[in-house]
Amino acid sequence: METLAPEKEIIDLIKANGGDAFKNCYQCGLCDAVCPWNRVRTFSMRKIVRQASFGLTDIETEDIWRCTTCGRCPKRCPRGVGQIESGVALRRIATEYGVFPSGVKSVRSISASLVAEGNPLNEARSKRANWAEGMDAPSFAEGMEILYFPGCYLSYDPRLKRVARATAYILKKAGVDFGILGERESCCGESIRKTGDEELFKRLAKENIKTFVDAGVKKILVSSPHCYHTFKNEYPEFMVNFEVVHISQFLLELLAGGRLAIAGRYAKKVTYHDPCYLGRHNGIFEEPREILKRAGVELLEMADCRLDSLCCGGGGGRIWMETPKEERFSDLRLDQAVSVGAETLATSCPYCITNFEDSRLNREGGEQIEIRDITEIIAEVV
Ligand code: SF4
Ligand code: SF4
Repeated sequence: METLAPEKEIIDLIKANGGDAFKNCYQCGLCDAVCPWNRVRTFSMRKIVRQASFGLTDIETEDIWRCTTCGRCPKRCPRGVGQIESGVALRRIATEYGVFPSGVKSVRSISASLVAEGNPLNEARSKRANWAEGMDAPSFAEGMEILYFPGCYLSYDPRLKRVARATAYILKKAGVDFGILGERESCCGESIRKTGDEELFKRLAKENIKTFVDAGVKKILVSSPHCYHTFKNEYPEFMVNFEVVHISQFLLELLAGGRLAIAGRYAKKVTYHDPCYLGRHNGIFEEPREILKRAGVELLEMADCRLDSLCCGGGGGRIWMETPKEERFSDLRLDQAVSVGAETLATSCPYCITNFEDSRLNREGGEQIEIRDITEIIAEVV
């Protein structure tokens, strides 16, 4: 096994990068029992933790890059090992040494695109507001009720632009006084941070924070659970606190407060997939279900739901890495949705939608089911 340097030095390096809790592990293996990777291949977080605690980490293998930061194993670990933080510490070391195995190399071009254009999709910053063409989505100005921050995928990805447009349509219908930042918006930085590029995360976070402060932003509406997570839980590391609301929470607020009325019915069998960063990481389970019920759907639950939701495979920067077809969690999730008899698989995260649409196209039986963001469903019935 290739290691970096004397073991003691590695242990110190891991500690310095935030992975100090490794030493608490007593090798019970509960993490491996709940990890979604073990449904598609052999993978052991327990082994990674053991090797790290002895300073024997091999940073050249793909294994330290597999964790999707889904949050299942930290919820079960009896010793508070903090597998996500510890795993990110190892990636920080690999990033610092410039060691990226073949399936992970794409992260380098993603970083370059984030630096140059503020998004991971290699799109021009100047086109960031193009999703709103033909709609009246005003530029944010101080004193407006809320900033709508669609994030990178909803700004540029052709499939996901439809979600941003559905959101703006609903906001206008409800008479919400909102604005967007357009090319002043940069990637929130959540996922690049999980790949170990702490410097780039800080740079993106500082850019956004400066923009928010300069524009007089107080309340931010987001569509992505990843933006939600970092704005709410990570940006306060920079001594700022904005009010952050996810679209599922805001839609329920609009419906319950009478600002938005349901006029039709989405008369389909729908199952809801809890995105890891909305559900397990931030405890938002009921709001999306409640608004789907208000839309008149027949709501069906899959085997792994709420706290036990099955990850789509896109978190932790995995959305940018190569995953062989037979190892995609999203294929398993699509099968679960089909097996409960759902006509629609609804969710509320750009990574989940990207992965599920891909599975739908490539999986036998995929044509039986449609993938929808909850916002697209509500836009059809208001
Ligand atoms: S669940 Fe926690 S204590 Fe048990 S093996 Fe995994 S990291 Fe170690
Ligand atoms: S956070 Fe999720 S993907 Fe990562 S090791 Fe734990 S269970 Fe596996």
